[in-house]
Amino acid sequence: MKRRDFLKLAGAASLAGCASTAQSKARVVVIGGGFGGATAAKYIRHWDPSIDVILVERDADFVSCPISNLVLGGFSGIEDVTQSRDGLQRHGVKIVRDEAVGVDPSRRIVRLARGGDLSYERLVVSPGIDFLYGDVAGYEAAMQSGRVLHAWKAGEQTVALRRQLEEMRDGGVYVLSIPVAPYRCPPGPYERASVVAAYFKQAKPRSKVLVLDANPDITSKAGLFKRAWADLYPGIIEYHGNSRAVGVDAPGMKVKLELEEVQGDVLNVVPPHRAGDFAAKAGLITTNNRWCDVDWRTMESKAVKGIHVLGDATLSAPAMPKSASMANNHAKIAAAAIVELLNGRDPEPVKIINTCYSFVSGKEAIRVSSVHEWDAGQGTLVPVKGSGGVSAARSEAEANYAWSWAKTIWFDSLG
Ligand SMILES: Cc1cc2nc3c(=O)[nH]c(=O)nc-3n(C[C@H](O)[C@H](O)[C@H](O)COP(=O)(O)OP(=O)(O)OC[C@H]3O[C@@H](n4cnc5c(N)ncnc54)[C@H](O)[C@@H]3O)c2cc1C
Repeated sequence: MKRRDFLKLAGAASLAGCASTAQSKARVVVIGGGFGGATAAKYIRHWDPSIDVILVERDADFVSCPISNLVLGGFSGIEDVTQSRDGLQRHGVKIVRDEAVGVDPSRRIVRLARGGDLSYERLVVSPGIDFLYGDVAGYEAAMQSGRVLHAWKAGEQTVALRRQLEEMRDGGVYVLSIPVAPYRCPPGPYERASVVAAYFKQAKPRSKVLVLDANPDITSKAGLFKRAWADLYPGIIEYHGNSRAVGVDAPGMKVKLELEEVQGDVLNVVPPHRAGDFAAKAGLITTNNRWCDVDWRTMESKAVKGIHVLGDATLSAPAMPKSASMANNHAKIAAAAIVELLNGRDPEPVKIINTCYSFVSGKEAIRVSSVHEWDAGQGTLVPVKGSGGVSAARSEAEANYAWSWAKTIWFDSLG
């Protein structure tokens, strides 16, 4: 064991030991150091430095899904989307590198995989998504064999999928299968089809991108994507709506749809999602066995008091996408509410904004924005009438804004 790892373990053990000791300050434990959890941890400390914040995250580095499609197209490297969480420590956030495996809400204690408990006054849970592999017959075996990937959590699979695309022969077929909405990042699959097509256009022009979409049509920025595909990638991208993957045949390199089978050289099948496993373990799932309903004024779970759920794991409010932009905003709602509650005050509802950029090539992008506000009558956040919209056209300026947006949100969440 390296000294660094020992110190991390020792740190975790000493924090865990605190569970039984009396505490002078309020303590918030945050599970998951992605866009939601990291932002919440930072902003609670920022807005009330007297609160003790412990962030539990199982992965060493933060690998951003936003911009990761550019890695697949060869326009960026995985190092460009990989960040350290060390900046959070400058705000006084204590980071425990471990996996949270359970919670006892009556005693307000979180259990960690390597042993030890963490007590909390308020718990924040932002575990992202996990996949309903069982909905696509043969998926898990195919994924383990490395022949079918989703690359819908940025990291190893992103690198592996890029390698498959590079190794594919010119004239080959890349199959991208999209699950029924809701899934994380509504425009993400169409961005992926675009940047892979841009790569094929320059490196293997006889190749094809075959998009099998379980939804009837493109679910976000449809007009802008269709225009880009017609202008930039005629004969390269072929789109089929209402084409749900029900199985995969890895040895035969086929995706099985309800009525037919489709063969490809690279199979990128994204299975349907649900809230991350920890949400299920913590009893936070309320809807369709998949998502966690919350009070949108505080992000507090409707199933378990004292626990706030953020990001992709939530049952989305009307017309609210599952995005990094939203997870970052959910975190600020929760952080503000927790600071108010721990100081004996009532939280106020707030208005939040979503912006999602998508690259349609290595150098041009498009955007969609929306604003969401609390509606007391409906008891949820609703889109503000007349707000938001999409870019007038794809442009290099939007691509520059996309990069600025990414650097800003990485810094806002982690810096
Ligand atoms: C290809 C792609 C492109 C995208 N592009 C954009 C974009 O341009 N703009 C945008 O706004 N959004 C984009 N998104 C969506 C965005 O990545 C997600 O919406 C966002 O990551 C959600 O944040 P989160 O905090 O809910 O989950 P995550 O960011 O996934 O964070 C979850 C964290 O929790 C950790 N964790 C989970 N369980 C445990 C546990 N039990 N113990 C300890 N740690 C745990 C995980 O390791 C992870 O670090 C994209 C997504 C994809 C797949």
